[in-house]
Amino acid sequence: MPKLKTHFEAGMTVCLKNMMGCLVGQENKKKTHRSLAKNILNINKKIKPHLHIVDGLIAMEGLGPTRGTPLRTGVVIFGVDPYLIDLVCARIAEFDYKKVRTLKAAEDQGLLTARHREFADSLDLSGVKRRFKEPIANAFASFIHSPRRQKYCLAVRNTAAFNYLCSTEAFGKMLFLTGLRQDNFIKDEMRFEGFKLKRELCRKGCTKCADYCPVELKLPQTIEDRNNGCIGCQYCFLACPTKAIEFKGELGFMAEQIRQYDKITREVV
Ligand code: SF4
Ligand code: SF4
Repeated sequence: MPKLKTHFEAGMTVCLKNMMGCLVGQENKKKTHRSLAKNILNINKKIKPHLHIVDGLIAMEGLGPTRGTPLRTGVVIFGVDPYLIDLVCARIAEFDYKKVRTLKAAEDQGLLTARHREFADSLDLSGVKRRFKEPIANAFASFIHSPRRQKYCLAVRNTAAFNYLCSTEAFGKMLFLTGLRQDNFIKDEMRFEGFKLKRELCRKGCTKCADYCPVELKLPQTIEDRNNGCIGCQYCFLACPTKAIEFKGELGFMAEQIRQYDKITREVV
């Protein structure tokens, strides 16, 4: 299910870019980057879901896909035509669709037509339109990721030596700090052993943890019960406004996610 998000390489990522998720393995994803917009269209020519549903309840603006800012837009968009939906999403975000690389390439190939534009123009989006901040990377990352230089950068990126360096923690951190990598990967898996409720921090009358629990557990009362049917999604832990829910086990890769997104996640829920 695509999220409504800005994307510093593609402009926006909605239905069209989301289909990259159908590629198996990092090697195939890397090949797609040789000509990102055109290859995304190639995937969409082969794989055509019957229905696209865009989750825009909470979207992302700014330096997406991972270093942007959540934005409560409150929309769900669904339909059968990914070109039209992506165009409508660009209109919602008040983006010039020609700056969205996938839409520009689709227009060049005749996949996005005047009929799409006319239909999008006929929709009254006044209640949902929000001017999203554009995904502007720093000067260094923009220089490296420019489409004109991309094939040279990919030639370096795909060498065995560079791949080895990328797998080291120190080099990964450096790429993150320069803005060339959007995530600081930690390879360690998470080991979840349950929760402890800090009762002194739990606010009377608050229902956030129960509201976000996808299996509708009676929270926070049953949170420490290991046989309560918890699926370990961590939503309650991440949504609690007072940090009354303590994680037991090893956070692993989640530690970095929490370092980056804890404050904005709790603010947005
Ligand atoms: S979200 Fe936190 S503060 Fe609210 S009821 Fe649950 S544990 Fe208590
Ligand atoms: S981790 Fe997920 S499933 Fe488990 S109690 Fe929290 S919200 Fe519910």
